[in-house]
Amino acid sequence: MTVPGRISVAEAETLIRSNLPRWPAERVPLALAPGRILRESIRAERDQPPFDRVTMDGIAIRHADWLAGTRRFRVTGTQGAGSSQLALAQAGDCIAVMTGSALPAGADCIVPVERLVRSEAEAQLEDGYVASAGSSIHRRASDHPQGAVLLEPGTVLGPAEVAILTLGGNADVAVSRPPRIAIASTGDELVPAGAPIGDFEIRASNDRAIEAALRRRGHGVHSCVLLRDDPALLAREIGRQLASSDVLILSGGVSMGEFDHVPATLAALGVEAVFHKVTQRPGLPLWFGRTRDEKLVFALPGNPVSSLVCTARYVLPALDIALGAAAEVPRYAVLASAVEFRPDLTYFLPVTLASEASGTVRAVPQPTNTSGDFVALRGTDGVVELPRGQDLFPAGFSTRFHSW
Ligand code: AMP
Ligand code: MG
Repeated sequence: MTVPGRISVAEAETLIRSNLPRWPAERVPLALAPGRILRESIRAERDQPPFDRVTMDGIAIRHADWLAGTRRFRVTGTQGAGSSQLALAQAGDCIAVMTGSALPAGADCIVPVERLVRSEAEAQLEDGYVASAGSSIHRRASDHPQGAVLLEPGTVLGPAEVAILTLGGNADVAVSRPPRIAIASTGDELVPAGAPIGDFEIRASNDRAIEAALRRRGHGVHSCVLLRDDPALLAREIGRQLASSDVLILSGGVSMGEFDHVPATLAALGVEAVFHKVTQRPGLPLWFGRTRDEKLVFALPGNPVSSLVCTARYVLPALDIALGAAAEVPRYAVLASAVEFRPDLTYFLPVTLASEASGTVRAVPQPTNTSGDFVALRGTDGVVELPRGQDLFPAGFSTRFHSW
């Protein structure tokens, strides 16, 4: 496979999509379903409601009795939610009913308890009360019939969807199986927090930031390692990580420096390069590839801002697609102030979002000093994507937003 030269952000997105596997599904109990991606259709086990359901506490009567002038009814029974259906026997009878109970046979009208004077044996309607047929009755199947599709594959399971799952009638559900994700940062200068550090070394932060971005979206990370810029060690360790993962996210070592061994190491390990370098800032040296057995490798540039931007813009959406999520609905925001950017590159600008009473979401630019200046990202929500081919973006310019 030939690796194209620098490609655009849109091309990079398309190439990633067309190289994604569809990870398998697994069945989990409903308690473990929240946040997961549904991989089956959920059909209604029964009509909803499954019976003519009473929606008020009160009495159930025949409307014809009220039309005929009856205002005082004999209470012949009480029906609560879950109890089996009683029936009105004679004219002038009523049955006390509770919200959620079945409508007694023969009844077609509910009078709320607030409009009655009740004794043990009788219920009398309030003076002037006008009864209407069908009131406070939620008719069988009026929400949906048995067999209706309630949820489609690809749905992210939030609280409402988890409630709907119960209407499918099963105690477990097919959802995507989480991928095994490994993170490896490369660089001779990297030292983890907590270890002694030399004058010309730096704290490794990308691995932690990438891991945080993944975990916040519900992904697990099974391995997170730091690797020195040593070709033999890289080959051995990257090979090992690949063997035990579905996705490997590398940071550092993908540029043109003498110690940037990552692309050659990946090639030697048989990882096919799909692309290397995207016309964007930050993150131009981004590398993406896959193995024959459909493992994904994202090799992100080492600059901390670049690695986080590439995670938000490419890695997180790719994981969602491979998990079977329905197409992402793009998010947009308008620039709160004008931005100038002259290079012929797509510009990913860190922003904080401010949503206004008008409903407008404004993106307040929080430019970084360099793509190493990740302290400037403090408090930001993500980046806006400012397209290539334009140098000036006025306040109010509407564009895509990608959340961290
Ligand atoms: P590289 O892409 O390897 O050329 O790295 C670019 C810059 O990012 C260098 O200044 C590195 O020191 C820095 N860098 C690389 N990896 C990390 C990391 N894991 N955490 C923080 N900074 C890093
Ligand atoms: Mg490096």
